[in-house]
Amino acid sequence: MDSNKQMAELLFPDITKTPEDYEELYPARNLSEGAIVTRFAPSPTGFLHFGGLFAAFVEKTAAKTTDGIFYLRIEDTDKKREVENGVELIVKGLNDFGIDIDEGMISQTEEKGDYGPYMQSQRTSIYHSFVKRLVEQGLAYPCFMTEDELAKIREEQEAAKVLPGVYGEFAKYRDISFEEAEKRIKNGDEYVVRLKSPGSADNRVKFTDLIKGDIEMPENILDVVLLKKDGTPTYHFAHAVDDHLMRTTHVIRGDEWISSVPIHLQLFKVCGFKPLKYVHISPIMKEENGGKRKLSKRKDPEAAVSYYGEEGYPKGAVWEYLMTLANSNYEDWRLANKDSDIEDFKFSLKKMSKAGALFDIVKLADVSKNYISKLSAEEVYEMVTDWAQENNERLYKLLVDDEEYAKSIFAIERGNAKPRKDIASWSDVQNYVSYFYSELWNGERSFPENLSNEDMIEILENYKQIYTEDTSSEDWFPAVRDMAVSLGYAKAPKEYKKNPDEFRGHVGDVAGVIRAAATGRLNTPDLYEILQVLGYDEVIKRFDEAIDKLRG
Ligand code: GLU
Repeated sequence: MDSNKQMAELLFPDITKTPEDYEELYPARNLSEGAIVTRFAPSPTGFLHFGGLFAAFVEKTAAKTTDGIFYLRIEDTDKKREVENGVELIVKGLNDFGIDIDEGMISQTEEKGDYGPYMQSQRTSIYHSFVKRLVEQGLAYPCFMTEDELAKIREEQEAAKVLPGVYGEFAKYRDISFEEAEKRIKNGDEYVVRLKSPGSADNRVKFTDLIKGDIEMPENILDVVLLKKDGTPTYHFAHAVDDHLMRTTHVIRGDEWISSVPIHLQLFKVCGFKPLKYVHISPIMKEENGGKRKLSKRKDPEAAVSYYGEEGYPKGAVWEYLMTLANSNYEDWRLANKDSDIEDFKFSLKKMSKAGALFDIVKLADVSKNYISKLSAEEVYEMVTDWAQENNERLYKLLVDDEEYAKSIFAIERGNAKPRKDIASWSDVQNYVSYFYSELWNGERSFPENLSNEDMIEILENYKQIYTEDTSSEDWFPAVRDMAVSLGYAKAPKEYKKNPDEFRGHVGDVAGVIRAAATGRLNTPDLYEILQVLGYDEVIKRFDEAIDKLRG
């Protein structure tokens, strides 16, 4: 037996399956031309963050718009960083935002699809099979360097100002003999398995990133670790094996990996895999003090995806916002296609920002207001109730106690061509509806400041006489206007402005008094609709309360 083969048997005596067996087990996918197969590949280290959600959104959208596959792979090779139920948290995070998993992990322990296992910790024998082959080919070797030895070469390299790492003359075990390896292993010495890099410092590699464009970097010359001391693979090696065998077409991931692409291309080459397309997403940025910085898990509450659920941004609105971050032309498309389904938008990976999209909470609120304004009263009711059940008990109780009443509030100025855009998230709803509920409104009122209390009392006394619940929306305002004119107010603001001395004010002031008396506010949605929802008795009661207050 040649010594490489002997070495391979020494390191992996129990591995009997070959790379060819795996090639057969995971055949090419039968998808249409242009279909993107991609994945979200987080480590199960805790809650999903906005950057992760954004990446998953982009991956899902790329797959969905090409009739491809989006799968969830769990990169759990670092057991120290893992949290309990880490996979569950990720799956739930994706589900909460409507990112459906086509394949891969679907709960802490379950998976679906033919290309698994989708959890790296369950793929050890697959990695070992491929490393065994590399050892047989003389392209990988056991390295017994100790931490001290590694630290020492690092120091030497720093002093000599040369590339740090294990390569060339620094790769002490590159040519280790079978006999020495056998002796050390028998002795119980610890080792990693390294690539015997075929790279040369004089060569450069070129590749095209779908977002960043053409990139050229020095070829990899490092004998990178493939398997760690405990036999688990490094990120680099697992990426090559998994994305190859899972038949990924596009590796869409954070751009912190871009500098590792030369390693990855080399690994694909030595393993005989066809290279994939790379798509490196720039991090989400935030403006601060005139400059830009990365959205930070530590500083920004909106970096945790739990924030969106707690604030009550509907998932459809977050989805819209993610699309505005992903493709800057989406906003214009949305303006031109107000009622179209988001799925009709032609998403493009190439149109993603090279520099990193800017997170803007005001924009998120605008997108969400717009989204919510298009929902029906029933939809708003269902979503707010769901949210309130977990986040606002008092509101929840009021909403379920009288469903019809709540729906009639949400129906105000909704379903027409220009719906109001007052609600950005469900946490705005309590304030939005407060004056409809005695439990939420203490009767405090802001009255218009340009009229005296006597004037206001007079207006309310008069209006009480003519107010009926049966007036139609067309007749309602003319009735207010006629009353205003009879009391000496101008019938329109324009008329008042022309001759202010001739009038006590204008019809807007009069309506303002009615509004303040009925709702406590100077600004509200359509007053006629509000009065209708409140009902005659309640309206008259509120006018009387207001008159009492104004009398002091
Ligand atoms: N586990 C890696 C990370 O979370 C995955 C990167 C990739 O998508 O390949 O950064």
